[in-house]
Amino acid sequence: MDRTRSEALFQEAQRHIPGGVSSPVRAFRAVGGTPPYLVRGEGAYVYDLDGNRYLDYVLSWGPLILGHAHPEVLRRVQKTMEGGLTFGAPHPLEVELAKKVKRAYPWVDLVRFVSSGTEATMSALRLARGYTGRDLIVKFRGNYHGHADGLLVEAGSGALTFGVPNSAGVPETYARLTLVLEYNDAESLREVLRTRGEEIAAIIFEPVVGNAGVLVPTEAFLQALHGAKEYGVLLIADEVMTGFRLAFGGATELFGLKPDLVTLGKVLGGGLPAAAYAGRREVMEKVAPLGPVYQAGTLSGNPLAMASGLATLEILEANPGHYAYLEDLGKRLEEGLSAVLTEKGIPHTVNRVGSMLTVFFTEGPVRTFAEAKRTDTELFKRFFHGLLDRGVYWPPSNFEAAFLSVAHTEEDLDQTLEALRHAL
Ligand SMILES: *Cc1c(COP(=O)(O)O)cnc(C)c1O
Repeated sequence: MDRTRSEALFQEAQRHIPGGVSSPVRAFRAVGGTPPYLVRGEGAYVYDLDGNRYLDYVLSWGPLILGHAHPEVLRRVQKTMEGGLTFGAPHPLEVELAKKVKRAYPWVDLVRFVSSGTEATMSALRLARGYTGRDLIVKFRGNYHGHADGLLVEAGSGALTFGVPNSAGVPETYARLTLVLEYNDAESLREVLRTRGEEIAAIIFEPVVGNAGVLVPTEAFLQALHGAKEYGVLLIADEVMTGFRLAFGGATELFGLKPDLVTLGKVLGGGLPAAAYAGRREVMEKVAPLGPVYQAGTLSGNPLAMASGLATLEILEANPGHYAYLEDLGKRLEEGLSAVLTEKGIPHTVNRVGSMLTVFFTEGPVRTFAEAKRTDTELFKRFFHGLLDRGVYWPPSNFEAAFLSVAHTEEDLDQTLEALRHAL
């Protein structure tokens, strides 16, 4: 497969942009090689600068649940665009999208729009601190909530410990306000709540993890999370990835969760920058201008992003069968991948919920980040490039979720399995 033009442009890009990319994982550092420049998409397929076609399992990291360039989504954006791009004033589409979010999350009273998932989680944490008057937060290893300072934190040594920065530039004193626990470790969570519960403003979590590869929550862990309420700790379900993807009401609907705040992004914007945090009136009315917690944005609630999000959510709400279809496709892909890998004698575990899936190259089970890290990343590189060279664009890191869209077909999946068989 000829990628000469992408290779040349990537060389040039590195003279102008750090690592040649606007977001690190796009640089292919985890798998080696050169990322193709993608210039066009249609349904489940993307096309690069050299004219190569790939079946896309990245889908812009999740937003494109309807596939690329969905005609109705494009039409709505174009129609809105004719009136201008941004006003920095209230816009009718914000009201429509807020109502749509409330249909998906019926316990939500108020929704605040922002432009990225990072902003949503950062703002939700500020709100939780402002509401509770407490400083500590709890997060889980391998859960990603964007790149805000207090969230770029790893567990220090010992089980019940203060966080330490995992990025340069994050002050240690600030990182210490984040307690980091193992995902799916109900016992440690209960212990932290017992000993520090009264100091904790919020627990933020991915209800299904996508950012360590896919990890599925255990029933015991979900129960322990809900135990936070006894201590007046707010529960923030970070559904930036899972919202509108696992069900119309996200993981909250799928698992019957009762969070205090939810953060949304990705599918919410349907491919343009829109995200949100939302919750009950009592909490959300602490946000400015109603309350003392400040948060603002020049492009927040941007009309084009509201239009693409609204068009996407309207299609999802009108077609509940889409979720059943994605579940069927997901199951077929999971079973197919597992069959090929078994046939080739390769140890593996496939974690999947609906249309989110990760193949770990290790004997299972994989329930925690520590277990995920047992995956054979050398084998993953071969898996990745074997697929890429055969026209399948898989996420370029083993610690990411692959996504399906309603534009993917069974024939597409069968081709992927054929490609994998050849690659191995
Ligand atoms: C992608 C993601 C974020 C960050 O969203 P950005 O729009 O990239 O800032 C936050 N939380 C979760 C769970 C995500 O998957």
